[in-house]
Amino acid sequence: MKPGAVDLLVIGAGIGGLGVAQMARRYGLKSLVLEAGSHIGGAINSHRFETEEGDYWAELGGHTCYNSYGNLLQLLEEAGQLDTLVAKLKLPYRLLVGGNLHSIPSQLNFFELLGVLPRLWVRHKAGSSVKDYFGGIIGSRNYRQVLGPALDAVVCQPSSDFPAESLFRKKPRRKEVIRSYTGTNGLHSFIDAIASGLEIRTHSPVTRIERMSDRYLVEVEGGEPVQADRLVLAVAPDIAAGLLGTLMPELACLLAEIEMAEIDSQAVLIKSDKLKLEPLAGIIAQQDDFYSAVSRDPVPDANYRAFTFHFKPDVLDQAGRHGCIARVLGIEPADILHSAGYRNRLPALRLGHYERIGLIDQQLKGQTLALTGNWFTGVSIEDTLIRSNDECQRLCKN
Ligand SMILES: Cc1cc2nc3c(=O)[nH]c(=O)nc-3n(C[C@H](O)[C@H](O)[C@H](O)COP(=O)(O)OP(=O)(O)OC[C@H]3O[C@@H](n4cnc5c(N)ncnc54)[C@H](O)[C@@H]3O)c2cc1C
Repeated sequence: MKPGAVDLLVIGAGIGGLGVAQMARRYGLKSLVLEAGSHIGGAINSHRFETEEGDYWAELGGHTCYNSYGNLLQLLEEAGQLDTLVAKLKLPYRLLVGGNLHSIPSQLNFFELLGVLPRLWVRHKAGSSVKDYFGGIIGSRNYRQVLGPALDAVVCQPSSDFPAESLFRKKPRRKEVIRSYTGTNGLHSFIDAIASGLEIRTHSPVTRIERMSDRYLVEVEGGEPVQADRLVLAVAPDIAAGLLGTLMPELACLLAEIEMAEIDSQAVLIKSDKLKLEPLAGIIAQQDDFYSAVSRDPVPDANYRAFTFHFKPDVLDQAGRHGCIARVLGIEPADILHSAGYRNRLPALRLGHYERIGLIDQQLKGQTLALTGNWFTGVSIEDTLIRSNDECQRLCKN
């Protein structure tokens, strides 16, 4: 490292930023990661409720990883954590229709489903919206009443206008690994493993980026500026647009066109004996103030259960959210032992997104600047790490 400068400066300590910093070590590059908030992990946020029996975790953001997450598994392998994966029980989701919970197949209209298989062959994902592609295959009523709400639950926002190709991208599976898993303390265990050995500064929001001959000069609110030879922005596109406005205005304009959605996530802890509900993976709302409720039941506990409701933003205050949660779970608001809330943000991808990413990548060609996050190929943890890996190779091989 040159005096006064870091090899690689990463802005944002979500999985995208931590991943790229850890991958850079494969090339012998040392990085510094700056995080605006008080916690690392960003949208991977395993809240720990204190109980008489000890800590009990529940996810406020991302909750499940799969054996198709090759980049994540490689990072965990390098950290010596591959044998710590915790299998998640395969449990059903239920659809909330008119106040009652139903199995998903029971809500499908089977006449509309006739001919699904031939329609799968003639429909093309590329260039289609989620509504046109999936609605065209499964039928408009089945889409409106069942699949549409389920896809909204996947991306925690209205999904109809997403590009169809951004969902369920096929990735190779590692068959020797558990199909669906988490960590010993939820997904945050993976964040701790990937962050290990990295230099990370929390409470360090980056406010401005300048170019100083062949280096970047990065200003940090309340801290010393940092000089870096290479720079990775691992933040949401609107934040990246704000930071790059002066340095690369054309790139900033492209980034500013990518929309973001907000989600009010509320996790509640309940004594198991207060709940009559069968064990569930989660609840999908057909039409309500929330998109989905993700349950901790796939990693069962003898005393407690937790559900994280992902609410539409700014619709209910905390008391309103507790009232809604109690209604859906069939309990009294007073049965909620503890509660924790978090405002999540996710990209709202639209048709034309991949063409825009192509233009963004043209702007990055030959630069010592990289962009990563959950707004390139798709919004999942592995989609984010695929981008981090590609950008790391581009930056570090030069
Ligand atoms: C409710 C929910 C459920 C999900 N479920 C799943 C799931 O089950 N499986 C799955 O694969 N994916 C899931 N996802 C998606 C996945 O968790 C996210 O896409 C992924 O974690 C995003 O990582 P990221 O690094 O791109 O962004 P983030 O996690 O948002 O990280 C960006 C970081 O940058 C920081 N930052 C912002 N501005 C600055 C600044 N100026 N200076 C310094 N730092 C800054 C932020 O504080 C943040 O920590 C879910 C997401 C949500 C919200």
